[in-house]
Amino acid sequence: MSWFSKTTKPTEPTEDLVALRDGVVVLLEAVKDLLGAGRAERAERLAERLSRFPPPTGLVRELKQIRSELLLGAGDRIADDAVDGRDLSRLTDQLTATMAATALVHSGLDARIAALRQSIPRRITRPEVDRLVGELNDIAESSQSIRKRTIEDRNELAGLLKEMGKRLGEADEASGQLGLSLAMVADSLVREPLPDELRSVRAALIARVERLGQDAGALRTQLARAKDRSRALEDMVQQQQEELLDVKAKAALDPLTGACNRGAFDKALVTLTRRASVASSALSVILLDIDHFKRVNDSWGHPAGDQVLIGVAQVMDEHVREGDVVSRIGGEEFALLLPGASLHVARSVAERVRQGLAAATFAEPATAVKVTASFGVALLQPDEAPKSLIRRADQALYAAKNEGRNRVKVSEPRHPS
Ligand code: GH3
Ligand code: MG
Ligand code: MG
Repeated sequence: MSWFSKTTKPTEPTEDLVALRDGVVVLLEAVKDLLGAGRAERAERLAERLSRFPPPTGLVRELKQIRSELLLGAGDRIADDAVDGRDLSRLTDQLTATMAATALVHSGLDARIAALRQSIPRRITRPEVDRLVGELNDIAESSQSIRKRTIEDRNELAGLLKEMGKRLGEADEASGQLGLSLAMVADSLVREPLPDELRSVRAALIARVERLGQDAGALRTQLARAKDRSRALEDMVQQQQEELLDVKAKAALDPLTGACNRGAFDKALVTLTRRASVASSALSVILLDIDHFKRVNDSWGHPAGDQVLIGVAQVMDEHVREGDVVSRIGGEEFALLLPGASLHVARSVAERVRQGLAAATFAEPATAVKVTASFGVALLQPDEAPKSLIRRADQALYAAKNEGRNRVKVSEPRHPS
């Protein structure tokens, strides 16, 4: 109020100032009774001084003092029914801070507390205090139930995640890894303090779980495809191996007669010789050469000669046992490897083949070719090399030819066994 300012020094009272002075005088009269004895007197004196215009020095100071005393007096009078609102405001500030710390913000409670704080007047009467206390209790109860619900939600979500993790874990190993990470998510959810924005955390978790689920599905599909591919590859490899074996087998066979060819015979000879030496078991060889085969070709033609070759191999096959090796080692020369056969046995096999051949008729029905063959037989000697064994059998065959053909000759052992 500029009227109370020391710089204002009116010489003549204006109409406004006079009205104001009269007002103050009336006011002082009115509040006189409310003040204590000493103060009441001072108020009276002041009113007197005001009525003697212009106001004396120190009036402004006096008025300020009386005003503050008046306020104090009024405060004393209603003290029983009121509290200082500023304390409550501080309390609500505290409460808001606590809520932020306990993550109950964004639950709607913070807005209610803010509204409550706004509605707190600077000075508060008893009924207002009661109303505020009621509201605060209400808010406290709400916070309890929200907190409880939050914990329940969190536990339910954690349980759900664990269950999903378990089921995924049962599916297969790859999914098991995903299940494990799900369980970890669930665990961390339980360990973490109540999240500020549970809803968004929950949404993020659900999205993550869905993604994990999709990953697991994709993994399973990939796994199944990989399995299919590997199965197809296995089949291919198997097929190739079979084809290779087939090729190898074919490469080892004489295409005309189906007997082993020269290469396969040489290998078998080396293998069986070694095996017989190691096991100290017998190994006999029979060499067979068709007699006058040139004449067969000459008389009946080359194709008929081929039929005879095929027939001879068949007759040999019919007279051998499992494990014996029938080979075509030259044009019209055959060999028989007989593991475990003594010289005596080998000789009788050769004899039976010789008789079988002599009795057979080949290249039928177009022609009826008759052939005979000469045989040389030898038994593997201790420490004898394969070449030596064949040489002795060949010498016996040569002897059979020389002695008139269609016969079996045996290479006599150096040390009879
Ligand atoms: P030997 O009693 O002294 O053994 O008389 P050979 O006529 O059987 O002997 P030689 O070795 O002189 O004749 C072998 C003949 O076998 C010559 C060849 O024309 C014939 N020959 C060899 N390989 C084949 C073949 O694959 N098919 C046919 N049809 N004949 C073949
Ligand atoms: Mg010959
Ligand atoms: Mg011959």
